[in-house]
Amino acid sequence: MDTESYVLDVVEVIEETADARSVVLRIPEELAETFTYKPGQFLTVAIPSDQTGIAARCYSLSSAPCEGRHAITVKRTVDGYASNWVCDNLKAGSTLRVLPPNGIFTPKTIDDDFLLFGGGSGITPVISIAKTALATGTGQVVLFYANRDQDSVIFARDLAELQAAHPDRFTVVHWLESVQGLPNQEILKTFAAHFDTFTAFVCGPGPFMKAATGALKELGFPRERRHQEKFVSLGGNPFGDVEEMRAAEQTIAEADDHEDTDPPAVTGPVSVEVELDGQQYSFDDYAGDRPLLDFLESKGVPAPYSCREGNCSACACVVLEGDLRMLNNDVLDEADLADGIRLVCQSLPLTEKVRISYNG
Ligand SMILES: Cc1cc2nc3c(=O)[nH]c(=O)nc-3n(C[C@H](O)[C@H](O)[C@H](O)COP(=O)(O)OP(=O)(O)OC[C@H]3O[C@@H](n4cnc5c(N)ncnc54)[C@H](O)[C@@H]3O)c2cc1C
Repeated sequence: MDTESYVLDVVEVIEETADARSVVLRIPEELAETFTYKPGQFLTVAIPSDQTGIAARCYSLSSAPCEGRHAITVKRTVDGYASNWVCDNLKAGSTLRVLPPNGIFTPKTIDDDFLLFGGGSGITPVISIAKTALATGTGQVVLFYANRDQDSVIFARDLAELQAAHPDRFTVVHWLESVQGLPNQEILKTFAAHFDTFTAFVCGPGPFMKAATGALKELGFPRERRHQEKFVSLGGNPFGDVEEMRAAEQTIAEADDHEDTDPPAVTGPVSVEVELDGQQYSFDDYAGDRPLLDFLESKGVPAPYSCREGNCSACACVVLEGDLRMLNNDVLDEADLADGIRLVCQSLPLTEKVRISYNG
């Protein structure tokens, strides 16, 4: 069984800065629903590789749903494979294989006041949220945008135009490392303190995210008003044959189990209840011997996922009853875990009944 991927036409490639390109994709009429997205979500793309066949990478949609377009923006990573391939090879008329939009870095209510932190290429999901909030929401939008220098500011003109169009609702603060040095936690805290009732979204390089989320935590932003997206490269290939991947995961899980000090998962039968897209599913024959995502897929549940490795948040759910433990987790922090959020692709049951929701 192949993971459902789609080959899309590239309509345009836009040189945003010396080392960042936006790639605009054409969505055929019949795929419009499949490719419906929320601001802040990402696409997973398949980059051809003569070494591995495919290198799978996630790229946030920098366009906004209300613009009626689908664009990703890719910044070259030094010595990176996929980002340089995209910047060097894609042009109008090329094709790109992708998985549909996914991810949980998206506002629950677009009428909130938003405090956005973007660092470098981390602007991509953040500008999508800003554009959507300004076009369809009612609140204030404040963006703190950090870059190395003036020439590396992606979307400088788009942001200036948005400011001109919404002078009373949109504030952008550009922070240039070449002029002001690195923005540290204290600086970000002083800034964020003026907006402590806003809903915050943070995306950027590791140290920037650490400083921004640290500042928000210090200011007492509650978990539900503090969101972050980590830009990491996927190690696996969600485009491949799912059965092959399961076999590989099983081997990895078995290898991991030797050193695993976490509580053992129950070995079934486990009863599972799932809320997904307004539908309820329940099963009482989950043996707990494989990740919950695999079990749900075997039952025909259209559960979301992307990397299948615990590297992204596409499969995240909230545990409403019982508990799950994860074999691997590269994205959720302590606060997420305390809120009952788990990555379904990595989850094994810890209790004989588990009730989860993908709704929020
Ligand atoms: C949710 C999410 C959203 C993201 N959004 C964005 C975004 O909007 N914009 C953006 O720029 N980035 C984004 N990223 C980051 C992006 O996915 C990549 O991590 C980034 O582009 C770096 O990838 P890279 O392959 O260039 O670099 P690396 O991953 O550092 O490349 C090196 C890796 O490639 C492997 N490699 C080397 N040569 C080959 C080869 N020939 N074949 C196969 N593998 C090879 C190496 O083994 C090594 O593992 C996002 C990440 C996530 C998780």
